[in-house]
Amino acid sequence: MNREPVSRELFDEVMVPNYAPGNIIPVRGEGSRVWDQEGREFIDLQGGIAVTSLGHAHPGLVGTLQEQAEKVWHLSNVMTNEPALRLAKTLCDHTFAERVFFANSGGEANEAAFKLARRYSWEHYGPEKHEIISFKNAFHGRTLFTVSVGGQHKYLEGFEPAPGGIHHAEFNDLDSVKALISKEKTCAVVVEPIQGESGVLPADPEFLKGLRQLCDENNALLVFDEVQTGVGRTGYLYAYEMYGVTPDILSSAKGLGGGFPVAAMLTTAKVAASLGVGTHGSTYGGNALACAVAQKVIDTVSQPEILKGVNARSDKLRKGMMDIGERYGVFSEVRGAGLLLGCVLTEQWQGKAKDFLNAGREEGVMVLMAGANVIRLAPSLIIPEVDIEEALERFEAAVKKLTA
Ligand SMILES: *Cc1c(COP(=O)(O)O)cnc(C)c1O
Repeated sequence: MNREPVSRELFDEVMVPNYAPGNIIPVRGEGSRVWDQEGREFIDLQGGIAVTSLGHAHPGLVGTLQEQAEKVWHLSNVMTNEPALRLAKTLCDHTFAERVFFANSGGEANEAAFKLARRYSWEHYGPEKHEIISFKNAFHGRTLFTVSVGGQHKYLEGFEPAPGGIHHAEFNDLDSVKALISKEKTCAVVVEPIQGESGVLPADPEFLKGLRQLCDENNALLVFDEVQTGVGRTGYLYAYEMYGVTPDILSSAKGLGGGFPVAAMLTTAKVAASLGVGTHGSTYGGNALACAVAQKVIDTVSQPEILKGVNARSDKLRKGMMDIGERYGVFSEVRGAGLLLGCVLTEQWQGKAKDFLNAGREEGVMVLMAGANVIRLAPSLIIPEVDIEEALERFEAAVKKLTA
């Protein structure tokens, strides 16, 4: 057994260099606080990129994980298991969905969604109707299909040829969709209700309503990528409820497992029928440990008082960040919903989001970026109010130093 001390430097010696992790290594977490190797404490407004929806070491999740660990971890889909069945039933009870497919990551849930959309159209209308319309700057994952549907060409560079039949329209611009959609060719329109990675940019309600109508008129499926916006993040269990627009397929991951890798694709019985036996699969999808943990997350997050709490925390955090923004002239706007907030840097600070991240870390608060011009906050949905207050104080200290 190798128990040598490890440090950040080792990353560059043993890891593929596709990430540039920060210069600390957290070793322990509790609620919204984490401690690094040196015992320094941080308030976590990153939430593992909108993943640790109930914070770190949540007693309920730890208990559930331990309990399931002593029963059965994994069976594969040669058999089904109780946690997967219960979780699927719960997701159907709480949403528009009538059928669920489990996967392990957001990219995989989207891969399943896009494959299903193609397969459904192929079955009902023929092979010509295979085109997917998605949006510029969208993010859907890092598999070849999902980066191709995603709207940032830099993520495709050097990996082409990409799958074909994908068109990118302008987000929040219905006319640009009208110019691309057709009854003959379009099988699906894929959209994030709030574009997360590219800057926490919410869709206009009229835009999503318009997409629903265009899809209906053109026999195309509407796919919502709720990998980032789902599981209580916006103050609704899923953001589609906030918008009052129901998709045909929805992908969920990130917050679903509270830190345990699990994802789900939700859909209707009619659409699901196109993924018949043998058409798609995953060894780990529906893993018993993962589903048991996700069950506990959904049971907790779907409680009305938890969702209400998200909005109360959101108000406090948003107001605090707007105050800092005004006092130091750093933010032009704080946008987003619930506990997915984007603080847009002013002209003067364009491209400098990373400096704010680093400055925050020095003061003991961890924030995210969403592109180079937006500071993103995606903390635990149950972050204590005192942690929000202290995080704001620490972040203000960081901004004060940075702008001095
Ligand atoms: C993070 C994210 C993904 C990719 O999820 P992975 O688990 O990293 O594969 C897909 N879509 C959206 C909207 C995301 O935010």
